[in-house]
Amino acid sequence: METEILSFINPATGAKFGEVKMTTAEAVENAVNEMRQSFVIWSGKSVRERIDILRKFQALLIDKRDEITDILNQDCGKSRQDGLIELFITVDMLSQYCAQAPKWLKRKRVSSGLYLFKQCFVEYRPHGVVAVIAPWNYPLTLALPPVLAALLAGNTVVLKPSEVTAATGVLIEKLIQSVPELAPFVRVVHGDGKIGAALTQAKPDYIFVTGSTPTGKKILQAASEHLIPVALELGGKDAMIVLDDADIDAAARWGAWGAFFNCGQTCMAVERVYVVESKYEEFVKRSVSYAKELKAGFTSEFDSPYFMGPVTDPRQADIVDRHLEDARSKGARVLTGGKAQGGFYNPMVIVDVDHSMLLMREETFGPVMPIMKVKDEAEAIRLANDNAFGLGASVWSQNIAHAKNVADKVQAASVIVNDSIAQFGIPMLPFGGVKDSGFGRTHGQEGLMQFTRPFSYAVGGAPIKWDVATILRENGHYDLATAIMGIVYGTSLRQKWETFSQLFRRKASAHAQKVSAQSKAD
Ligand code: NAD
Repeated sequence: METEILSFINPATGAKFGEVKMTTAEAVENAVNEMRQSFVIWSGKSVRERIDILRKFQALLIDKRDEITDILNQDCGKSRQDGLIELFITVDMLSQYCAQAPKWLKRKRVSSGLYLFKQCFVEYRPHGVVAVIAPWNYPLTLALPPVLAALLAGNTVVLKPSEVTAATGVLIEKLIQSVPELAPFVRVVHGDGKIGAALTQAKPDYIFVTGSTPTGKKILQAASEHLIPVALELGGKDAMIVLDDADIDAAARWGAWGAFFNCGQTCMAVERVYVVESKYEEFVKRSVSYAKELKAGFTSEFDSPYFMGPVTDPRQADIVDRHLEDARSKGARVLTGGKAQGGFYNPMVIVDVDHSMLLMREETFGPVMPIMKVKDEAEAIRLANDNAFGLGASVWSQNIAHAKNVADKVQAASVIVNDSIAQFGIPMLPFGGVKDSGFGRTHGQEGLMQFTRPFSYAVGGAPIKWDVATILRENGHYDLATAIMGIVYGTSLRQKWETFSQLFRRKASAHAQKVSAQSKAD
């Protein structure tokens, strides 16, 4: 069979800047087997040793910043500063994880309850080989952090980057391989969905997926054949709610930023906006004005005059166009922006939208900001929840208690007040989804601990006479066990006394019966 090739194409210029051979299904299986063998060595290292090695990788990431932003710039068409944001989030997360990991991964002593003669512990052990399957929209910061978290927890890793941004995948492989102490514990396999499917079939011990909801469902189904646990970080359709006490200028400015950053190709981008009637006109006017300031274009210079690049994956442009066409045919109006040349768009502010439109229901993942007028906050909440996804949301109000009250009613796994997207960049906040946005978390303590399985053990000598273990096991202790249960767990004094006194009541009545039987016999 001929080897398949993944070409590196800059989506901004169409220029080819390299290529990589796709990994074969057989080589994927070999990679998983190899990582299973090296797992013994990596998981045998102490957390401190693993941190020391990962800190070397952290230093390398900072040293190689310009090379990294160069590849991200060519691979995605995003500006080098946007590439640096990916690197910044990755380094920030790694650094904070390295600081917290010894505490989080430490063996924990837990109460042994009534088993007074035992000591009980929980250890957080790695799963084994973790497969990380990554998307193209942030090819560095959605691939490396789960890899690094899994490593920190003691797993070895097989990473499959997206075929759309294969150059970043090759770069990640090169960076990892250039730290000799880390190189034997990570493999990167290159290819499309077929190779991702082969990775699931190679039976890793845990799968961490970031991608679309249909892909997540396929992987979950395939993994269920082998009972492999899966974490799914899937799509979103995040709502932004603007309340009557919001700072409208700030909401318009940062709402537009959240809708158009990375050309709208962000899982928790602002994909739909609900503004209360009284502030609608002003919000729309200001959003249009901010959107017009955000220019699309490409440069490989460090500082770019452009706010956003092109749509990275041409297949995504087809989805954006389909959503726009559908919305227009149902009466939506594009107030500013639209398709420019190639994969470039100017930021689009769209009004007269409703929930019959794909633009308000499905993930668009493009440079659109549809704004809908709502009667009041109750209607905003109802419409925000009228969607299959549940990733993030944003609420705007200068009264934080008011905003939090509304945030509590939104069906999302995370909400940000008076900002957009930023919750993803805060390493200690777990990020993930509910509903069709998946489950599992990245970032935060939960993001690290998901790469472990609790191992519990109890130690002590063999059960002695007054051990609850012995009392419960030996026959003839019904009343004693009842008394213990009642005294310890009874929820009222009456119940405690009633269960405890049973111990004597039954003994007394048995004694009385014996005496009466005896006197009859006499
Ligand atoms: P995608 O679903 O097309 O692909 C994701 C990855 O899965 C790719 O590496 C792909 O090759 C692989 N894949 C495809 N089919 C597979 C299969 N059958 N078995 C195993 N692997 C398979 O997603 P994408 O277009 O690369 O990324 C965009 C999507 O990711 C959007 O829906 C976006 O919302 C979502 N996303 C979610 C988060 C989050 O944290 N929740 C973050 C970023 C992106």
